[in-house]
Amino acid sequence: MQNPLLAGAGERDLPTVSLSSLQHYAFCPRQCALIHNEQAWAENYLTAQGQALHRRVDSGEPETRKGVRFERSVHVSAERLGLSGVIDMVECELSTGQLYPVEYKRGKPKPEPFDEIQLCAQALCLEEMTEQTISEGALWYMQTRHRVSVAFTDALREQTLTIIHQVRILLASGQTPSPNYDKRCKACSLIELCQPKLLEKDRSVGYVAGLFDDK
Ligand code: SF4
Repeated sequence: MQNPLLAGAGERDLPTVSLSSLQHYAFCPRQCALIHNEQAWAENYLTAQGQALHRRVDSGEPETRKGVRFERSVHVSAERLGLSGVIDMVECELSTGQLYPVEYKRGKPKPEPFDEIQLCAQALCLEEMTEQTISEGALWYMQTRHRVSVAFTDALREQTLTIIHQVRILLASGQTPSPNYDKRCKACSLIELCQPKLLEKDRSVGYVAGLFDDK
């Protein structure tokens, strides 16, 4: 995946990427490149539901309840990490100043840690900006109407930093990975643009033809 043009590029030479690109990458690197390098976007009912949920969250005014300040749509930018974006909600414990990121999700908890990685990246941004250690955040799921606490363990932090680095390399390379048709594609809003079955078939036809090429 590493572009030879980027061999030797330092972390500082890589572009700043958006928080949302991490989740797209964790779901499918090709989807991430199509959206963030090729500006492809298609809405399906899942993305439409997600956008409606975020519009509802974003429209709320900041408020204070029981010693906690709730700030919505908080813009963050962390130069050292190479990340920027918007956090759905940041809760601040007024007595201690402790910050706590909260991300709203349309569906239900997933077996893969995509949501946890996005939330941990938000915490890492807040840590760089405030020099405060953030050890926990929460995911709120619309489908189950359930709030799930997430601890930012060393393992999750490491996994998140790896994904951030991989996304920065991918988006700096300008390359779009080949499709890999599997069960994720059925839920992917870009399936029409991506054409994973067709392109995979093209690749296998090319491979078979290559076997019979005169050397
Ligand atoms: S259709 Fe499949 S291979 Fe294509 S971008 Fe979506 S998840 Fe990735």
